[in-house]
Amino acid sequence: MGNESAQHPRHRVVVIGSGFGGLFGAKALRRADVDITLIAKTTHHLFQPLLYQVATGILSEGEIAPSTRVILRDQKNVRVLLGNVYRIDLEARTVTSRMLGHITVTPYDSLIIAAGADQSYFGNDRFAEFAPGMKTIDDALELRGRIVGAFERAELSADPGEIERLMTFVVIGAGPTGVEMAGQITEMADRTLAGTFRNIDTTTARVILLDAAPAVLPPMGEKLGSRAAKRLTKMGVDIQLGAMVVDVDQHGLVVKDRDGQERRIESACKVWSAGVSASPLGRQLAEQSGVELDRAGRVKVKEDLTIPGHPNVFVVGDMMAVEGVPGQAQGAIQGSRYAAAQIKAELKGAHPSDRKPFDYFDKGSMATISRYSAVAKVGKLEFSGFIAWLMWLALHLVYIVGFKSRLTTFVSWTVSFVGRARTQMTITEQQVFARTAIAELEEGLADGRSADEAAG
Ligand SMILES: Cc1cc2nc3c(=O)[nH]c(=O)nc-3n(C[C@H](O)[C@H](O)[C@H](O)COP(=O)(O)OP(=O)(O)OC[C@H]3O[C@@H](n4cnc5c(N)ncnc54)[C@H](O)[C@@H]3O)c2cc1C
Repeated sequence: MGNESAQHPRHRVVVIGSGFGGLFGAKALRRADVDITLIAKTTHHLFQPLLYQVATGILSEGEIAPSTRVILRDQKNVRVLLGNVYRIDLEARTVTSRMLGHITVTPYDSLIIAAGADQSYFGNDRFAEFAPGMKTIDDALELRGRIVGAFERAELSADPGEIERLMTFVVIGAGPTGVEMAGQITEMADRTLAGTFRNIDTTTARVILLDAAPAVLPPMGEKLGSRAAKRLTKMGVDIQLGAMVVDVDQHGLVVKDRDGQERRIESACKVWSAGVSASPLGRQLAEQSGVELDRAGRVKVKEDLTIPGHPNVFVVGDMMAVEGVPGQAQGAIQGSRYAAAQIKAELKGAHPSDRKPFDYFDKGSMATISRYSAVAKVGKLEFSGFIAWLMWLALHLVYIVGFKSRLTTFVSWTVSFVGRARTQMTITEQQVFARTAIAELEEGLADGRSADEAAG
């Protein structure tokens, strides 16, 4: 066990997470007289808004997930530590993380917690095996494997029923991610893969976008939601609203319609983009400080983004519940910059009681539907079609971290949007079967079998 509790001359800031909150928080402290330890369970900073493009073969994982260590190379006051934080001790002011059997206890003077959120299956976690969500690079690569793999298996089959099942793709959740996935699976089938198989016609693939809610893209308002729905329908996406998923298995799913009737959809490839639940670290904060959590497990922070009795512990990004702040990149970036600003001010003598409440500036939101088509909302202004798509393009290029990633992303987009190719269509057996194989391995180990027996 590594213990870093030796006497320390400088103020110690621990940042949990290397996503938008974690990375931007650490960067905002670059000129501060502090020692920062950034602890994250992945070695990369993930640009989640473009995960769907990795899943659908437009971008490589490297383009949207640069190494955190490399990004922060020149920021000498940061140390990056790979570790899964499993304990926060508010009284001892320590964070305990584990990686490959190595346990590290890291003390802090100030703590910024930006551990994000996971997919939520609303209590039906067994759905995950059959309908992966999209939160990590592993998820995106597995989905790419399942999408391309479904077409490959359809080509091999002589059974019309099986071909139909394999060529029916169901996206559950009609928020931005669901809309983007449905649009991109359709474009992949209609443009990239068209004419590449001999027994199947990929342009006949069926893409269904399901949601229990009565609208597409509810947070973007009725007008933009119906424009997105119209465009998707024109592309051939089958939108089914008011349809609640009640069961999912390997070969399909069961949905309950508004009239209470249940029906089955045969589909080999399902994508879950229906809900989120905040990092379980929030529960530890609740147990130790009495802070409340909302239904999604987000921490109901005070107006300075801290928890009661601990003005040195900030919770930001997808883990925080703040009225009017959506679970989006800007919420995390602005929250962590705010936390960094308080830490810096207090090092210069300010007192926590002087803090002004966190004030979120809404820069708007957007979603792409297909190439050259998007919807965007900026304040009261609403855009759709090509203009919104250009806005989306420019904004994402600005926010992708690193000049090289920007350049290669731009090239990949040109290849995919101007032409019809996709440069990242590679799939491997490990991608397709990893989730099931790991689950079986873990089950086997829990049964007491050896790793080799479980794997074999
Ligand atoms: C598919 C998808 C599409 C999206 N599209 C958009 C969009 O178009 N626009 C937009 O504004 N927002 C979008 N979002 C939301 C946006 O990505 C999030 O709001 C944002 O990433 C939140 O930042 P965060 O720092 O709180 O969490 P994250 O970015 O999720 O980062 C969490 C970090 O914590 C680490 N971590 C988690 N648990 C632990 C632990 N126990 N120990 C150590 N490290 C841990 C993770 O590895 C990760 O580095 C999208 C999200 C998804 C999933």
